[in-house]
Amino acid sequence: MTKNVRMPFPGRIALGSALACALALAGSLALSRQEAQAATAAVDLGFSGEVTQGGWIRGMAPKGTVSLSLDGESVGVDPASGQWFAAFDRDAKSSVTLEAKLADGRVVDRTISVAPRHWNIENINVARTAKGPSEAFMKIRRPELAQINAARDMRTGAKGWMEHFIWPAKGRISGRFGSQRIYRGEPGAYHSGIDIATGTSGTPFVAPADGVVILAADKPFSLEGNLLMLDHGNGLNSAFLHCSQILVKVGDHVKQGQVIGKIGMTGRATGPHLHWSLKWKDARLDPILFTGPMD
Ligand SMILES: [Zn+2]
Repeated sequence: MTKNVRMPFPGRIALGSALACALALAGSLALSRQEAQAATAAVDLGFSGEVTQGGWIRGMAPKGTVSLSLDGESVGVDPASGQWFAAFDRDAKSSVTLEAKLADGRVVDRTISVAPRHWNIENINVARTAKGPSEAFMKIRRPELAQINAARDMRTGAKGWMEHFIWPAKGRISGRFGSQRIYRGEPGAYHSGIDIATGTSGTPFVAPADGVVILAADKPFSLEGNLLMLDHGNGLNSAFLHCSQILVKVGDHVKQGQVIGKIGMTGRATGPHLHWSLKWKDARLDPILFTGPMD
């Protein structure tokens, strides 16, 4: 990881040399040690999290941050606390850049190495269905996708993104995030969430973090079945698929741990399970990196 400080004048100098400059000046300009330390502290782009594909980071914006971005994607900063959140897609590049623009005109950036994952890839000696989805199917599917996209575009101001997530339900993990089948060399879509099976339909599940209900489709969607979506704020949202029942409605504010629905097998499912997926903007994320392993 490297850090750079871009000064208002042209050219880019490394933080190390900026500090060296500051210390060299200290002699002649009597710049105190505290002042030199304050100058470096002001550009600290620190964070913590799971710095890997499908993972996330959280940090505190440096004082005077006007805007923050990750590889050009804007990162929301909570105005009250200065906290921010960003995440890495399942197929994120191995190196991304976090950049802060400061009120005094400086631009600070930091290169982040994103650790690759080893996804469960299954090679299958069967050709993928030759034809794509039928027009009859797409006629049903298009408005469903439009509803999902419209829900994801809603900005609710929820603060769940600041919390440590909990499991919505406990059971057997019957499908992991990111796993994928390759049909005679042609990749199929990877699994976009985590599947939790409790063995029966009707098991209640809870909100993994605070949120606002942005979709509560109890007229089953063709693939997702009864679909419940929560906005956790700052571009982060959850989707819960195949519900047998949804116990909340659009606009409801839910708290972490609150029962919001019941597990089922509506839509395309071979048995009762909860499919939970998480997205930050366009990045698909691995829920287990938010909760930690199930105990
Ligand atoms: Zn699933």
